[in-house]
Amino acid sequence: MLAKPRLKLAVLACMDARFSVHRLLGLGEGDAHVIRNAGGAVTDDAIRSLTVSQHLLGTREIVLIHHRDCGMRTFTDTEFARRLESSTGMRPGWAAETFTDPVQDVRQCIARLRASPFLPHTDVVRGYVLDERTGVLDEVS
Ligand code: ZN
Repeated sequence: MLAKPRLKLAVLACMDARFSVHRLLGLGEGDAHVIRNAGGAVTDDAIRSLTVSQHLLGTREIVLIHHRDCGMRTFTDTEFARRLESSTGMRPGWAAETFTDPVQDVRQCIARLRASPFLPHTDVVRGYVLDERTGVLDEVS
């Protein structure tokens, strides 16, 4: 009987419905934990999932995927908070985590992961920006 390959990868990507993380990375079912949110932001909740992934389920590598045509570049945190306040009467206690430069935001996300005291494995963290026009993932150094 073949040994089951050990799950070692977690992916944090933007939730944009126009691309599939599994297809982009050539992953099959069971190959990685995939966490998706607006922008692929390193929020407290993303760190919560990555912490469970590393501490309890043994993953050791993290891949971040942002993309050039991200909707999170089309407004600001302040605008969004004002909009929510005017329509609901409440300002959110969180930031939308918008950004202008996806490469710079990937660098910021990598720094946030490395600064987390809860993640034991941050030596292999790779970040990419997808160019939707070409389908190419550019690695952020
Ligand atoms: Zn996006």
